[in-house]
Amino acid sequence: MSVLVQKFGGTSVGTTDKIKNVAKKVAAFREQGHQMVIVVSAMSGETNRLIGLANEMQKQPDPREMDVLVSTGEQVTIALLCMALKDQGCDARSYTGGQVKILTDDSHTKARIQNIDVENMRSDLEAGRVVVVAGFQGVDDEGNITTLGRGGSDTTGVALAAALKADECQIYTDVDGVYTTDPRVVSNARRLDKITFEEMLEMASLGSKVLQIRAVEFAGKYNVPLRVLSTFEDGPGTLITLDEDNETMEQPLVSGIAFNRDEAKVSVLGVPDAPGVASKLLAPIGEANIEIDVIVQNVAADKTNDITFTVNRSELEKTKKVLEKVCAELGAREVATDSSIVKVSIVGVGMRSHAGVASKMFTALAGENINIQMITTSEIKISVIIDEKYLELAVRALHSTFDLDKAP
Ligand code: ASP
Ligand code: MG
Repeated sequence: MSVLVQKFGGTSVGTTDKIKNVAKKVAAFREQGHQMVIVVSAMSGETNRLIGLANEMQKQPDPREMDVLVSTGEQVTIALLCMALKDQGCDARSYTGGQVKILTDDSHTKARIQNIDVENMRSDLEAGRVVVVAGFQGVDDEGNITTLGRGGSDTTGVALAAALKADECQIYTDVDGVYTTDPRVVSNARRLDKITFEEMLEMASLGSKVLQIRAVEFAGKYNVPLRVLSTFEDGPGTLITLDEDNETMEQPLVSGIAFNRDEAKVSVLGVPDAPGVASKLLAPIGEANIEIDVIVQNVAADKTNDITFTVNRSELEKTKKVLEKVCAELGAREVATDSSIVKVSIVGVGMRSHAGVASKMFTALAGENINIQMITTSEIKISVIIDEKYLELAVRALHSTFDLDKAP
């Protein structure tokens, strides 16, 4: 018998019929003798609907009241799911975040979990009851309702699993696992049986939006085995765990290809080559709360610098405005921008123990005549910036070069 935490996302509980379907699944696990803690999101579209209502009331809705409002979405689902479970003869009890006592800090709309009381849940579990907890919400030490940021129910699931020392945290969603790349781009992308926390973080932050990034970080920190699987089809899903060293040798070089279409490139040309210039140029960008991704600097023969970096496409105009002012002060020649670029990355812990992965990647891109504009690497990732019109071609070429189409 094991303790399982299962989280069902908005699409899995989008209608009363779907909630009944979830109840059926959960009751079957309970029948097998597992102790079950279920975390649910709001019914699909509900959180957006509530945020829309708030925006009709106030230009910048009050954060405390926003949390009181949006937390109601999950409160509806826990009650409905418990009713459906009871209707199937499966005893269950619902808990809001405050009732469990998921204690958070007081940063409304983006609160962080500090502590979870497990006693009440434990006594329910021991009495054979299914515990159903509202995702995404907690309570601060003054009793105010807080929420954990969009997609926060994943984090609730992982945090409960860590606190209860559950055997696994299972995230049920509308896809059947984590894929080697986006199947809409590469039709023979494969579901991965297993991936490490580190790899998942790189894949997630690069745009494979299966899991909230914070949930993956949390699971890695507390070593909670995490599994992504489909609510609507049977299957093993993808297990996300620690990288046990001895397995690394057998790991494929590359586990997945990630990409991000939301990047734009900014080049500041002809900056005087002197100490402190990069910081003078980039500090105002940071102060304007603009996140910088890839940065490259090179010195030209005339002793001036070109500094090129990427930002989120939606922040390009803002970035340009900030830079034009700084550039005038620094005496730079010109600011050039390009919003038709993308970032493509190969990700894999197998890279750690193998040389030559980068050259294999660059050779594959060269073979398709794709020009690489910028390169950046980390221990388990190599990213390139290329023209957006080559995105599909690049991802497909890399997917087959690193044998991701074939079963391992
Ligand atoms: N209902 C919240 C949202 O839509 C939390 C979640 O579903 O994870 O962001
Ligand atoms: Mg989600």
